[in-house]
Amino acid sequence: MKTDQSKAAFEEAKQYIPGGVNSPVRAYRAVGLTPRFIDRASGSHIWDIDGNEYIDYIGSWGPNILGAAYEPVIAAVRERAGSGLTFGAPTRQETVLAKMIIDGVEAIEKVRLVNSGTEAVMSAIRVARGYTGRDKIIKFRGNYHGHSDGLLVQAGSGLLTGATPDSAGVPSDYTKCTLLADYNDTSSVQRLFDANPGQIAAVIVEPVAANMGVVPPKPGFLADLRQLTKEQGAVLIFDEVITGFRLAYGGAGAYYGICPDMVTLGKIVGGGMPLAAYGGKKEIMDQVAPEGSVYQAGTLSGNPIAVAAGIATLTAIREDLTIYDRMEAYAAKIEQAFKEKGKNVNRVGSLLSVFMTEENVVDERSAKTSDTKKFAEYFAQMMEQGIYIAPSQFEAMFISGAHTHEDLEKTLTAISNLRA
Ligand SMILES: *Cc1c(COP(=O)(O)O)cnc(C)c1O
Repeated sequence: MKTDQSKAAFEEAKQYIPGGVNSPVRAYRAVGLTPRFIDRASGSHIWDIDGNEYIDYIGSWGPNILGAAYEPVIAAVRERAGSGLTFGAPTRQETVLAKMIIDGVEAIEKVRLVNSGTEAVMSAIRVARGYTGRDKIIKFRGNYHGHSDGLLVQAGSGLLTGATPDSAGVPSDYTKCTLLADYNDTSSVQRLFDANPGQIAAVIVEPVAANMGVVPPKPGFLADLRQLTKEQGAVLIFDEVITGFRLAYGGAGAYYGICPDMVTLGKIVGGGMPLAAYGGKKEIMDQVAPEGSVYQAGTLSGNPIAVAAGIATLTAIREDLTIYDRMEAYAAKIEQAFKEKGKNVNRVGSLLSVFMTEENVVDERSAKTSDTKKFAEYFAQMMEQGIYIAPSQFEAMFISGAHTHEDLEKTLTAISNLRA
């Protein structure tokens, strides 16, 4: 496979952009290869600038659930763009999208649109603090909630493979209100509540962890969090930036039948444009300015083009909810093929990961027992066979509604060709 063009583009980019990329995991450091510079994508396929074609299992890290360049979404963006890219004033379409989100996600009665998952989570936590009048929050080791200062503590994926476990440039005072619990371990949460009575504003969790590889919640774990936060008067926040509209239209909350107090959304909700959202119960969301005293704002928030892409995406999903069964059936066949090769796989719905360890992966500790060198070898073999997967042990494989029977056959063959 030729990668000369990508190599040259990467060398040039590195002179002007830190590491040559605008988000670290794109640099392929964890797998020691040259990142593919992308020319275009369509449906389930993506082409790099050397002309190589791949079956795409990254899907822009989640947003492309309908496949890339999905025609109704592109048409909506084209049409809206002709009327101006941004107004900094309200539009009726923002209410349309807000209603679609509220109809779909049980926990959300009111919602704010923002520009990125990072911003959604950062804002939700501020609101939870304003609402409870408490400062401390509990997060789980290996869960990622974006790159805001207070949350860059044992934060998974990009940081699990990086040389520095956490980030430089974050004053320790900024993270002293962030308490760490172990994923799938209710007793570690209970201990933090016991040690900090009346001081915990919120527990934030990825209901399915997908930034240390895919790690499902153990039966009862989410219900326990629901129970504990209720007893303690803390806000339960589901960070559904990946799982929202992916596990079900109503996200992981609907998939597991647990209703948190607040939910953050991103990735899919903007249909590939920079849009994210946070929402929850009315009485909580009414803390947000100008209604309440928690400040949060954005020049481009509710951007008309992003909103148009979001509406078109959610409309397409809602019109054919069989997408979830189709993606799941597809993902289950891939899981099966990996298992036949003796691989250790975790899967929830259309999200899956292969872990290069013998251990059952249930939390950050067990995820870290993975052999990342072995992962790099596996990654190279998949790419060489035209299967485009995330260049890190600690990211998910994303199935979309655009993957075809032919894609599946090719992928199964590639898996069966893997050398041990
Ligand atoms: C991607 C992600 C974020 C951050 O979203 P950005 O749009 O990259 O800022 C937050 N939480 C989770 C669970 C994510 O997967």
